[in-house]
Amino acid sequence: MESHKGHIVLLGAGPGDPELITLKGLKCLRQADVILYDALVSEELLDWNATAIKKFVGKRRGVPSKSQKEINELMLHYARCGAKVVRLKGGDPMVFGRAGAEILEAQREGIPIDVIPGISSFLGAAASQKIPLTQRGNSQSFWVVTGHTQDGKIPEDLRLAAQSSATVVVLMGMKFLKQIQKEFLAHKSLDYPVTVVQNATTRVERKLETTLEKLSSDVKAHGIDNPAVLIFGTHSFPKNKFSKSWNQWIHAE
Ligand code: SAH
Repeated sequence: MESHKGHIVLLGAGPGDPELITLKGLKCLRQADVILYDALVSEELLDWNATAIKKFVGKRRGVPSKSQKEINELMLHYARCGAKVVRLKGGDPMVFGRAGAEILEAQREGIPIDVIPGISSFLGAAASQKIPLTQRGNSQSFWVVTGHTQDGKIPEDLRLAAQSSATVVVLMGMKFLKQIQKEFLAHKSLDYPVTVVQNATTRVERKLETTLEKLSSDVKAHGIDNPAVLIFGTHSFPKNKFSKSWNQWIHAE
């Protein structure tokens, strides 16, 4: 086995719609010898490479198929054999994507590793539902926070975010929805706007527009589930019934 001839790329697959990968990402995907992919990646993307070894390393029904240690070992093993290894991750690899651990491992082994960004799920959700994350005179920033820490607690940052006037986007927020709602209720009004977007940018995307008061009861009543992003502080623009959708435009050729 020759050492250190391979290469690893952490590649952002985008939020769900397989066409939302970057052009550079697609080129890289097509040249890969090995693709290690996560659960929230569109499997349609895998069809772009007929010859690569493809291994699912994500979570199914909340249960990881492989530990982070096993994923690192697999990635390094193929790279040491000289393969071009693509670690295909949902959204962007640098946003709650455990990229840090993988970069560290590769660098420790002297294996070249690069990152190709992807459109994060919260950006996909905001665009798809026409929810501006910033607005002149209204919202000067947005925060992106996780809904729970590694040891299953409400993150301190989420408590701080609930007090700010920023638009707050929560990823992985469904598990502790009621507690998150409570944190916001301590600082915001009952009618504070909240939008939940499930399966953003996919064919089965769903949106719930509600208020802080009704957040968890409405989520339950409408059967909204993972994967979903919560957006606190702003609502979507109404859909324009008369405009052709972008997808219809680009697929009409
Ligand atoms: N790196 C990813 C985030 C991984 S954490 C990114 O940049 O998007 C996983 C969380 O992302 C999910 O719990 C959910 O909150 C969110 N998520 C991922 N894909 C999503 C989608 N298509 N629709 C809504 N939320 C999504």
